[in-house]
Amino acid sequence: MLLSDPTSSYLGLPGAPLPTGNDLLQNPMLNKGTAFSVAEREALGLLGLLPAHVSTMADQVERVMEGVRRNSTGLGKYIAMMALFDRNRALFYRVLTDHLQELMPVIYTPTVGQACKQFSHIYRKGRGLYLSAGSKGRIAELLRNWSYEDVRMVVVTDGERILGLGDLGVDGMGIPVGKLSLYTACSGIHPTYCLPVTIDVGTNNDELLQDPLYLGLRQPRIRGAEYDALIEEFVLAVQQVFPQAVIQFEDFANRNAFRLLQTYQHRVCCFNDDIQGTASVALAGIYAALRLTGGSLAEQTFLFLGAGEAGTGTGSLLVAALMAEGLSEEQARRRCWFVDSKGLVVRSRRELAAHKRPFAHEHPHQTDLHSAVRSLKPTALIGVSGQGQAFSEAVMAEMAALNERPIIFALSNPTSNSECTAEQAYAATAGRAIFASGSPFAPVVLSERTLVPGQGNNVYIFPAIGLAAMATGAERITDEMFLVAARALAAQVTEADLDQASVYPPLAKIREVSARIAAAVAELVYERGLARTKRPADLLNYIHSWMYQPVYADYVEGKS
Ligand code: NAD
Repeated sequence: MLLSDPTSSYLGLPGAPLPTGNDLLQNPMLNKGTAFSVAEREALGLLGLLPAHVSTMADQVERVMEGVRRNSTGLGKYIAMMALFDRNRALFYRVLTDHLQELMPVIYTPTVGQACKQFSHIYRKGRGLYLSAGSKGRIAELLRNWSYEDVRMVVVTDGERILGLGDLGVDGMGIPVGKLSLYTACSGIHPTYCLPVTIDVGTNNDELLQDPLYLGLRQPRIRGAEYDALIEEFVLAVQQVFPQAVIQFEDFANRNAFRLLQTYQHRVCCFNDDIQGTASVALAGIYAALRLTGGSLAEQTFLFLGAGEAGTGTGSLLVAALMAEGLSEEQARRRCWFVDSKGLVVRSRRELAAHKRPFAHEHPHQTDLHSAVRSLKPTALIGVSGQGQAFSEAVMAEMAALNERPIIFALSNPTSNSECTAEQAYAATAGRAIFASGSPFAPVVLSERTLVPGQGNNVYIFPAIGLAAMATGAERITDEMFLVAARALAAQVTEADLDQASVYPPLAKIREVSARIAAAVAELVYERGLARTKRPADLLNYIHSWMYQPVYADYVEGKS
């Protein structure tokens, strides 16, 4: 006998009949592969379509990991994982959740970058929605073509600034797909609630335009009013077709990222992870680091290498955090300094981009990072420049001469773009640096002490923000939510983590960490009157109740 309609929650199509036979095996949201029980095989027309032995999910996880590890390259592992994604979604998430530390670099940075570079060559399946400039006027219709009716989380890119790789056009689709996998794995957002979108407005990447296998529009990027109208239509169409969805803008170039956030932040439920999520994770690391240095936030001077989305986004959130500690906006801004490719960002510099101007202070121009460190005497150095090895030994030694415990964060991804390695930061500062990096580094043993560098990756933030917004039905996502998320993340760094010089909790705990951040953010959503749901008595329990567990449903009674 069929149990209570499993299709309703899995397909987002209440009342849809459960498919049988090969149709069932081909449906990734329902397929259990060799884990279908004997009774299910009998009832659902699967006899003969599977080998006799019934596997447990644990057996299947082991089999998948054996297969993934057999691949010697990251790209091979990625292809193996995405093949699993296409055929059995519950197992994909079980494997990813159980082996997050090992598989996050495969599903996301750095390997996803390689996968994007090869996207048109390794393409097997769409895995998301492709809205091109030619879809103008029909975007709502295209959104309705998506397989699931109830979408709550949309990650959208136009492919112009994919990781540190630049304009990859439609090949950037690997990013929204990978990011949404992390939403599900790290904070349990149900896979059918997730919609990856690429808005294909062309590409200015000549290599792609000349590649006969390139799958996107073969035209230069559209700009200006035409571009804005397309984005506007997309945002409005999402409100119409998926009224409960959060929109996360992802990997847009500076020219559009800041503008789009400003335009839509106060109109719809949306955020930009590159700007706001990174800021929140960096601030959390700083809060935790202060427990080691002993100073207050207001006593710090922050020097950023890189004044783009991650850098100025973090600067803006720091200003909010400093103002919450009683500083005026002017005082708070003067705590944050930036070096970009042309040296120190100061008032006398002409033609600064709009997002840098609020941080351009009166100060003599310094042409390089080292002279900026000497002149400003920062307590914290934060790398968000995408420039591998940009923190020289001399710069870090200078930081160590200025500070008993210098804060040195090398947040650029992937690993090759990290401003320094963990080993270099500890070596240059006699182990005194409080170091964190965007990409993972192995523990470092120094004078018999094991130092475990924390991973300052926004994966600690965006899944929790999405979960909080979804569970509360938030009308907007405000900057204050990222401040609260940073505090909630920092609060989960234990004394044991700090003893190892780690300013983030271990990734292995991320589901519980995300739940607690989401509960703190949800509390704020209710307090600010931004929720479309009633506040439950037990918020943490309520947040947990929203979290998808990658387990199989029983389709028929009887195990074997
Ligand atoms: P972006 O393109 O918006 O900004 C990059 C900035 O670096 C620009 O201001 C640019 O002028 C500056 N820059 C370039 N070359 C430089 C040089 N030689 N010296 C000094 N500055 C230089 O990019 P973004 O979104 O801000 O990302 C920057 C880096 O941060 C990337 O590597 C990205 O992977 C990383 N990032 C990490 C996380 C995380 O969670 N750890 C999150 C987001 C971004």
